[in-house]
Amino acid sequence: MYYFRWLLGFLHLLVWGSIILVHAIPPPDPVQCNRTICTLSNSYGAWGDRKDCSVKSVVYPTTEEELRSAVAHANKNKLKVKVVSQFSHTIPKLACPSSLGHHDSLLISTAKYDSSIEIDSVNLAVTADAGVALRDVIDKVEEAGLSLAAAPYWEGVSVAGMISTGAHGSSWWGKGGAVHDHVIGLSMIVPGNESEGYAKVKQIAAQDQLLNAAKVSLGILGVISKVKLSLERGFKRSITYNFTNDSSIENNFMEHGKKYEFGDITWYPSKHTAVYRYDSRVPMETPGDGINDFLGFQSNEILISKSVRASGKIFLGLIAHS
Ligand SMILES: Cc1cc2nc3c(=O)[nH]c(=O)nc-3n(C[C@H](O)[C@H](O)[C@H](O)COP(=O)(O)OP(=O)(O)OC[C@H]3O[C@@H](n4cnc5c(N)ncnc54)[C@H](O)[C@@H]3O)c2cc1C
Repeated sequence: MYYFRWLLGFLHLLVWGSIILVHAIPPPDPVQCNRTICTLSNSYGAWGDRKDCSVKSVVYPTTEEELRSAVAHANKNKLKVKVVSQFSHTIPKLACPSSLGHHDSLLISTAKYDSSIEIDSVNLAVTADAGVALRDVIDKVEEAGLSLAAAPYWEGVSVAGMISTGAHGSSWWGKGGAVHDHVIGLSMIVPGNESEGYAKVKQIAAQDQLLNAAKVSLGILGVISKVKLSLERGFKRSITYNFTNDSSIENNFMEHGKKYEFGDITWYPSKHTAVYRYDSRVPMETPGDGINDFLGFQSNEILISKSVRASGKIFLGLIAHS
């Protein structure tokens, strides 16, 4: 009986203890509005100038026509307009319509414009709505037995936000590791005159010279509506990290880039350490768990982040006083 009570007590502690200890917080919506004004934040919580980005109003189109109407409304009423994704992982403040104040400004969020992902298996291409998350594109493409040739290290991006900022992984092979170099078409909404309804959808094809300017345009040439990316037959990647001395990094990096299709090197000069990533494509049948367990982008206990920051401040304080 005594042991039974003890066991029950232990189980209670385990269940309630876990509920109290495991407390995950999803990132807040980057756009917060009160009755009079909206504020756009990036995921870091601060813009470079340390000032808020205030906007008069925000719209959430769900279709290409609603997106076109939003641009037309801004053009007709001479509003300053910018676009942001559901993630707002941007570092520069270019997603903010105006730094001078919220009057006459409109923010277009693509958070709800994320329903369409069309795969063309014959021509090895995928076309997605601007606001679709990279993870969703990858899942759909892989379901069809195909793969994106390039992707950033981090999946918390929208397709339009990703190409607009030139987001990249690592590769010297083929067209390289920058995702925009694999873009083969775009739809962009640009201002129009009155007879065009104040905004129009411009299709920009692979051979069009405009594509080079439009794809990495930081949201300042127009609003990207759809992105078409080239695909390859499905493949897996095999990744091994080699932590080693950095003594001949300058002699090794060219050879490393040539040898491993997605290879990279993380350099820790103060530790005299270089981490060589041996990263190559392998056939789909290759066994593996398909998990990238790189610690950098995994969720952490808030307590750990706080203590790392606090120890950094103490360290800086000690340097300042020594
Ligand atoms: C933890 C972390 C890891 C990262 N890792 C990498 C990495 O490995 N490689 C890398 O290259 N980058 C990396 N980045 C940077 C990231 O790729 C960029 O910040 C990317 O722009 C974020 O995409 P987003 O969808 O959040 O875009 P947003 O932040 O919403 O927008 C970015 C820019 O694109 C514009 N934009 C957005 N949507 C549209 C649209 N529909 N039409 C026109 N313009 C538009 C915006 O106005 C803004 O100027 C990382 C960022 C974080 C936070």
